[in-house]
Amino acid sequence: MTVRVRIAPSPTGNLHIGTARTAVFNWLYARRHGGTFILRIEDTDQERSRPEYTENILSGLQWLGLQWDEGPIQQSDRLDRYRDAVQTLLDRGLAYRCYCTADELEVMRTAQKASNQAPRYDNRHRNLTPEAEEKLIAQGRKPVIRFKIDDDRTITWNDQIRGAMTWQGRDLGGDMVIARTPEGDEAFGQPLYNLAVVVDDLDMEITHVIRGEDHIANTAKQILLYEALGGTVPHFAHTPLILNTEGRKLSKRDGVTSIDDFRQMGFTAEAIANYMCLLGWTPPDATQEIFTLEEAAAQFELERVNKAGAKFDWHKLDWLNSQYLHQMPVAALTDLLIPHWQNAGYDFDPVGDRPWLEELTTLVAPSLTRLPDGVGEARLLFGSALTFDEKATAHLQQAEVKGIVEGAIAALKENEVADLEGVKAIVDQITKTAAVKKGLVMKTMRAALTGELQGPDLMQAWLLLHRKGQAVNRLEQTLALLATF
Ligand code: GLU
Repeated sequence: MTVRVRIAPSPTGNLHIGTARTAVFNWLYARRHGGTFILRIEDTDQERSRPEYTENILSGLQWLGLQWDEGPIQQSDRLDRYRDAVQTLLDRGLAYRCYCTADELEVMRTAQKASNQAPRYDNRHRNLTPEAEEKLIAQGRKPVIRFKIDDDRTITWNDQIRGAMTWQGRDLGGDMVIARTPEGDEAFGQPLYNLAVVVDDLDMEITHVIRGEDHIANTAKQILLYEALGGTVPHFAHTPLILNTEGRKLSKRDGVTSIDDFRQMGFTAEAIANYMCLLGWTPPDATQEIFTLEEAAAQFELERVNKAGAKFDWHKLDWLNSQYLHQMPVAALTDLLIPHWQNAGYDFDPVGDRPWLEELTTLVAPSLTRLPDGVGEARLLFGSALTFDEKATAHLQQAEVKGIVEGAIAALKENEVADLEGVKAIVDQITKTAAVKKGLVMKTMRAALTGELQGPDLMQAWLLLHRKGQAVNRLEQTLALLATF
């Protein structure tokens, strides 16, 4: 059997973290078994589906590295297939037209509620006589198509994650609507989710349906449809929900839901993909936490996916992200940081200053957890006009400061300072000639070059400023400040 799996998002919103995690598991499963990963866009809900959401889903999956092998297949292109399937079910006597109005269904539900019964359709139009049907049509009623569900039927499947699952037909809410008749259309033009999914999964020869546990109740209904349409029932695997730190389903209230949100917060695709593998799956070596999708695929088994909800742990994600940022090749990290520096309004030429930007990246990389951290870390290195904070101003009022700053300016003008050794030599020289402690020279230079007493490694920052032609300029601004004391 060749494994064929799919991710089937509805384009009614941006790529959701839960959908992306399900996509990861499908992708891993396909790669593990040399199978095919299919992308299907479930856009039958015309009112809520939007092309921009489809775009967002496609680009989000690609960003994560989840390239699909077939698709995207749009359900809206396949309406004829669903109509054929509905017709087949009608012809086989397995489905029928139900003419109940919304009001009638409401009255029925209210009565059920009043007698403490679970809400369900009571199958009242299952066996209409042709005459009764004529009458209802004559009243101008539009039918929906309902699929018969036998109350006494027991439906079972062996869920690859959750084990043996059993449902009773009577718990499925009565005969289910599989298609509606849109206004102005004589045919049952609008298929409903459960029907479209089964027709698609059959046509696409899906062998394993791996999806969120919120679809478990649909699975029982879908198995009945597979049987009715004469198809082979695929294997099912229902993945655990993603929970927030309080143990509730991760939602908009947690501040992030879509993959775009994470991207904008400065997480890398690799870290997100890696973290999503860990959201519910445990590698055979449970201590292994950092791996690529390919590495995870080589060992992925559905049996090692947990049944219990997967708690979203921001600290873990931050830690993973920092690991990726710290080990990323400098050119790639520079590419990621440049847009953040541009957004911050820093003045630089992304092409002309490239070698300098890469050095700056090397300087800030070890301090990064998320990409926007690079903005704060690099802030003191951009621009020419210096502002001095309170602490730096206080420090610069010491008597020895002037000599140190003048000595540094002279040394920078006289010497070819090409590397860190050159900067260190200047510090040593000033320490000697000014006969002060090295610590004082360092602190003074930090204040004089950056206007603050805290920041990235001083020697490297100094060298970078010097390379940009800013070291002497800034030291002269400091001298101008000293003159005002
Ligand atoms: N379209 C469904 C969703 O976005 C998924 C259907 C399925 O995987 O069977 O939740």
